[in-house]
Amino acid sequence: MSDESQELGITESKSHKPGEWYAEVVQKAGIADYAPMGGFIVTKPRGYALWESIQDALDGWFKETGVDNVYFPMFIPESFLEREKDIVEGFDPEVAWVTQGGHDELEERLAVRPTSESIIAPFMADWTRSHRDLPLRLNQWCSVVRWEATETKPFFRTKEFMWQEGHTAHATDEGAWEEVWTRLDQYERVYEDVLAIPVLRGKKPEHDKFPGADTTTTVEALMPDGKSVQGATSHNLGQSFAEAFDITYVDEDEEEQTAYTTSWGLSWRALGALIMTHSDDQGLVLPPTVAPTQVVIVPIWQEDTKEDVLEYSENIADDLEEAGFRVELDDRDERNPGFKFNEHELNGVPLRLEIGPYEVEDEEVTLVHRPDNEEAVEDRDGIVDAVDEHLETIYDKLYEAAEENLEENVRTADSPEEIMGTIGQHGGYVKVPWCGDQACEEAIKEKVAAEIVMQPLEEQGGTTAGVPKAPEEDDAECAVCGDAADELAYFAKSY
Ligand code: AMP
Repeated sequence: MSDESQELGITESKSHKPGEWYAEVVQKAGIADYAPMGGFIVTKPRGYALWESIQDALDGWFKETGVDNVYFPMFIPESFLEREKDIVEGFDPEVAWVTQGGHDELEERLAVRPTSESIIAPFMADWTRSHRDLPLRLNQWCSVVRWEATETKPFFRTKEFMWQEGHTAHATDEGAWEEVWTRLDQYERVYEDVLAIPVLRGKKPEHDKFPGADTTTTVEALMPDGKSVQGATSHNLGQSFAEAFDITYVDEDEEEQTAYTTSWGLSWRALGALIMTHSDDQGLVLPPTVAPTQVVIVPIWQEDTKEDVLEYSENIADDLEEAGFRVELDDRDERNPGFKFNEHELNGVPLRLEIGPYEVEDEEVTLVHRPDNEEAVEDRDGIVDAVDEHLETIYDKLYEAAEENLEENVRTADSPEEIMGTIGQHGGYVKVPWCGDQACEEAIKEKVAAEIVMQPLEEQGGTTAGVPKAPEEDDAECAVCGDAADELAYFAKSY
C-alpha cells in the first residue's frame, strides 16, 4: 500500500475501538463531517444518498397506506407547547428557544421543534369535523432539534437530526392500534429488507414512554459491539393529545366524540445502525439496496491491451446500466488498480468487477464481493443475471451475519449479579422476568449503565393493544428484586 492510500484508509479497529473506528469510517468514506457547533454534523453527498434510499422506501409505503405528506413550521409558540403537559415536561431540558427576531425581542418565545405534535395537533383539530374526516394521516420529512445532554455521535445522536414524523387521528382506539402496528411493521421492513439488519419488536417500559403517550412501541437493533439501538418508534397517544388540542368529531349519531391519535418516527439514527452493523476495518460496507454505487468496474491494462480492455469494460458497464444497476466504470488513468480497489472498498461498493486482458480473451468477468472478498468468475454473456444474483448473495451475507450476532446475544439471568455480569462480559440483551417496578431497572442502571430497552409483546398486530409477554413459568420472580413478575424485560446498554 502506498503512503497515500494508507492515509486514506481506516487506521482504527472495529473490535478494539468501535467509537474511534466509527468516527473514522463516517469521515473517510465521505458520509459526514463534524460541523463547527458541537453535536451537529454535515451530511455529505454519499451520506445523503443513503438517507434518500431510506426515504424512498418508507415514503412509498406510507403513501400506499393512506398517508399524505405535509410541512409545518419549524417553530412552535411556547403557549402551544404548554397545552400538553407531558410534552413540556418531557422535552423541556432539550428545547432550543428563539427569543429574538432581527433586533426585536419576541413577545412569545418560539421553540425549535423537538417533535411536532404541539403544532400539528391544533390543525388536525381544525381539519377533523365528522367521522368522515377520519382516519387523518399526515407525515412530514424534516429535521428536529433536541439539545442532547449526553454525548453525541454522528447519526446515532445529534442535536439536529433528520427524520420523518407521522401524525394520525382515528375514531376508535382499535383504529389507533392498527395504525401503530402498520407503522411498526414498515419500520421493521425497512431495517430487514433495505438495511439488512434484523430487529426485535416490543414496547418501551411505562416510565420510558414518549411524553404523553399511552404506549411506545419500538424496533431495536443489536450492534456488533453489544449495544442496542432504538431503531424507530411508533406511539399510541391514546386521547391525551386529542383532549389537549380538542381533536373531536361528530359520529354517525350526531354525537361529539374525542379522537384517538398516534405518532411515529424514524430518524437518521438508522444510518448509524447501518454503518456500525456492516462496516469493517477496511471501511464502509453497504448492502446493495442502498449503496449509491452498487457495482464498480476496474479495468486492468498495460499500454498494449488498454484499448481492448476499456472497450470490453465500457460495453459491460452499458449493459449493467441499461438493466438498472448503479454502475461506475473507474477508468482513471492516474490511479493504479490497487489504489482503486482500496478506495472502492473504503467507500463500501458492494461488488467489484475486475477486467484485464485474460477476461477479455476468455470472454469472462472476475467479480469480488466487498464484505468477504469472495471471488467468482462469470461468463460475459450472462453478466447481467450474474450481477443480480451476486448482489442478492451479498445482501444475504450481510443479513445473516447480523442475524447471527442477534441470535447469539440474547441471554437470560436470574439475579442482579448475573444480569450485570452477563452484560459486562458479553454485552447484548439479557432477557429477564420483571415485576414492572422502575426501581429494579434503576438498580442495574446505576451500576452498569444498562437499561430496559424493550419488552416483548404477546399481541402486536391488527387492532389489538400491545400486551407484554408473560414469563414462561407461572410463578416467575423478578430477576432484580425477587417479587412476583408477570412481564419480560430486555436489559442492554444502548446508543
Ligand atoms: P421519539 O420521538 O423520541 O420517539 O424519537 C423518534 C426516533 O428518533 C427514535 O426512534 C430515535 O431512534 C430517533 N432519535 C431520537 N433522538 C435522536 C437524536 N438525538 N439523534 C438521532 N436520532 C434520534
